[in-house]
Amino acid sequence: MPRFDFDLITIGAGSGGVRASRLAGKYGAKVAVIEESRPGGTCVMRGCVPKKLLVMGAHFAHGFEDAVGFGWSVEGARHDWAAMIAAKDRELARLEGVYRKLLGDAGVTLVEGRGILADPHTVEVGGKRMTAEKILVAVGGWPIMPDFPGREHVITSNEALDLKQRPRRVVIVGGGYIAVEFAGIFRALGSEVTLVIRSGQTLRGFDQDVRATLAEELEKSGIKIRRESIIRAVAKNPDGYAVTFDNGEGLTVDCVMAATGRAPNTAGMGLMEAGVKLNSKNAVIVDEWNRSSVENIFAVGDVTDRVNLTPVAINEGRVFAETFFNKNPMTLDYANIASAVFSQPPVAVVGLTEEDARKAHDVRLFISRFRPMKHNLSGRDERTMMKLVVDTASDRVLGCHMVGEDAPEIIQGLAVALKCGATKAQFDSTVGIHPTAAEEFVTMR
Ligand code: NDP
Repeated sequence: MPRFDFDLITIGAGSGGVRASRLAGKYGAKVAVIEESRPGGTCVMRGCVPKKLLVMGAHFAHGFEDAVGFGWSVEGARHDWAAMIAAKDRELARLEGVYRKLLGDAGVTLVEGRGILADPHTVEVGGKRMTAEKILVAVGGWPIMPDFPGREHVITSNEALDLKQRPRRVVIVGGGYIAVEFAGIFRALGSEVTLVIRSGQTLRGFDQDVRATLAEELEKSGIKIRRESIIRAVAKNPDGYAVTFDNGEGLTVDCVMAATGRAPNTAGMGLMEAGVKLNSKNAVIVDEWNRSSVENIFAVGDVTDRVNLTPVAINEGRVFAETFFNKNPMTLDYANIASAVFSQPPVAVVGLTEEDARKAHDVRLFISRFRPMKHNLSGRDERTMMKLVVDTASDRVLGCHMVGEDAPEIIQGLAVALKCGATKAQFDSTVGIHPTAAEEFVTMR
């Protein structure tokens, strides 16, 4: 008789949990994955995927406007928000089916319900107990809501993705990834958008030139940014929601959305009771092998609050399964992870910001700002910014930053170059593809 029901029980069928479970199953382990919502998790069901579909949908608005400069007549183009949401929902249902099939094909048992640890080897789901040699916690995170009177009227990105109709006037609290992405979606489709940020600039943590350029572009697109501003209260009134700011000013809108960060989903899971140590933000503390303070309990993805990005969670799940189910010990290299913000225009970066690079290096900077070729005809007043941060001593490129159309597609390629330790001289000796925006990265002198 085996000692446990399973070799591995994974709690959470999101990006990290599914990858770990599938691989472990493929390597012959007996695996169960527990999910209380829909397989696919935050990225597929409430994050990256539906968000990007809405970004694409909204971006057509710019396409129609820009097409006029190329001879198109586009009068009468109308957007149907409900039709876009329905199309997005059909795609999510398809993806949910794909995830269920992938788990099934790998021999993984999907258990639907909320998994709670009863002891370090036992998980309880709806009153039923299951045991496993190893437990993987991959329960992700959940939006944090700021605390002010009327917060019950405020939605998060979870609800914003399912709105029945597009709000005509929107206030978005926060200036991070989610805030600027949703600001772009609503604004492109015609909403009046006010971004309320408590500091002086959007996108904390990004390079200063990225932050300044994006804010300028957002403001040019008509998004209002209220800097150093805090919401005191939100109240329902006959015309919508009355928002009161800390300086006493007010604004009535149809929708107030908070995008003020996310917190690990660790509450009420029995983790602390089982001896799993959490940090001050309630994230599971793990070592480089994704092992928690309890020897047989591991965690990957946003619940560990390391680098909260889907591909990172997937790779954490991969190295966990390789290490413990394929006798192939490996850890994840967190250096030079590229990331993108799907604002309009988008941002993408890899490597160090100028500020961080200066802490340890003497740097040379290369910055290019230009009007994309398309907008010479479209007339749109949108500029692209590209920046390279180079280590003076070694000539190595430490950081690549871009704000502009296709930035995520361009930076992904440059991430490989940075991983290989490319120097500025090697960038310069690379022949560009003409005419592209990307070629600017190899012609900066
Ligand atoms: P972020 O941490 O990116 O940004 C949070 C924002 O909210 C900041 O502007 C912060 O201001 C502000 N804020 C925090 N608390 C308050 C408060 N009490 N009152 C007012 N403002 C507040 O969080 P997001 O919610 O945008 O995204 C969560 C995470 O999800 C990201 O960090 C990222 O890891 C991931 N994500 C990644 C995406 C991608 O890769 N494209 C897309 C979406 C999400 P301040 O700067 O002053 O601290």
